[in-house]
Amino acid sequence: MKALVYHGPGQRSWDEVPDPVIEEPTDIVVRIETSTLCGSDLHILKGDVPETTPGTILGHEAVGTVTEKGAAVSTLEIGDRVLVSCITSCGRCRFCKEARYGLCTGGGGWIFGHLIDGLQAEQARVPFADTSVYKVPQGLTDEQVLFLADILPTAFEVGVLNGGVQPGDTVAVVGAGPVGLAVIMTARLFTPGRIIAIDLADTRLEKAREFGADVTVNNGTEDAVERVMELTDGLGADVVVEAVGLPATFELCTELVRPGGRIANVGVHGHPATLHLEKLWARGLTITTGLVDAFTTPQLLKLVAEGRLDATPFVTHRFPLDETMAAYDTFADAATTHALKVVLEAQPLAMPSDEAAQSEIAIA
Ligand SMILES: [Zn+2]
Ligand SMILES: [Zn+2]
Repeated sequence: MKALVYHGPGQRSWDEVPDPVIEEPTDIVVRIETSTLCGSDLHILKGDVPETTPGTILGHEAVGTVTEKGAAVSTLEIGDRVLVSCITSCGRCRFCKEARYGLCTGGGGWIFGHLIDGLQAEQARVPFADTSVYKVPQGLTDEQVLFLADILPTAFEVGVLNGGVQPGDTVAVVGAGPVGLAVIMTARLFTPGRIIAIDLADTRLEKAREFGADVTVNNGTEDAVERVMELTDGLGADVVVEAVGLPATFELCTELVRPGGRIANVGVHGHPATLHLEKLWARGLTITTGLVDAFTTPQLLKLVAEGRLDATPFVTHRFPLDETMAAYDTFADAATTHALKVVLEAQPLAMPSDEAAQSEIAIA
């Protein structure tokens, strides 16, 4: 099969690689129909993620069809259409039993395209299948559910739920990239009073408005702290979500939050940030960090199925799966291309529909 292989910092190629096979009785093999790229794939390519070794297939978000299953897999059948999440759960360790799947110590957690071969490929081996994939509800398209593999649960759990967003709250979101936009989208489930999006790029702030931000602040040309204080009677935002991953943006969050408020960090940080305890020690703040656990994926799937949540506006570009290299160029140059999520689409299989047509004729 073909797959997007990481060959060390700055190096990737679309290679012929061996087909995945069942290695453990709890594995399935999935034919990937739709996949996508993530900011963390770019982090890996920058060399920021040393545990990802050269030769690893990248990608951790996909929708596909089960083509093989191990002897111990009991809840999935060949032919099932499944959402493969960025988080795998062994289902047995202490953290999986607490629904903290992102912290799994039994071989799960974020493993695809990180510690094992990932999902930007024609096929993938999926470990712990029974406890890790989600059957796609009938009638939903791949693009309706694909972003529930990562950015939607990440934004919802690590941003909105960790931030404790309540009805009426002022929520400030620092960073209006795909994850920041997903925070804006899922924060609205709690009817906040006002969502303020802060970014350096006017094009991203325009998107933030489309996704539901009420106020946008370009902190390259305006003083974000001053604007937020004006809007909140000098108190600050109830909840501030960091969705960038830089020391300066984290430190900005601590200036934007009201006394007794909450800062939820979602950004992936590569450098230390300063926590100004000399100013913050008495302010009664809560600061949370975390990786997604994906425990809300079933809930988000219901919201999509019931038409309460539409993740399809994240799609800005589509590429055939075998043009994944070009998709990376577009995604990595988001400043010019304005890419949010770039969808990779496999060629439809001719065989099954022919068979289906034949069986229809047979039934008729
Ligand atoms: Zn990701
Ligand atoms: Zn586990």
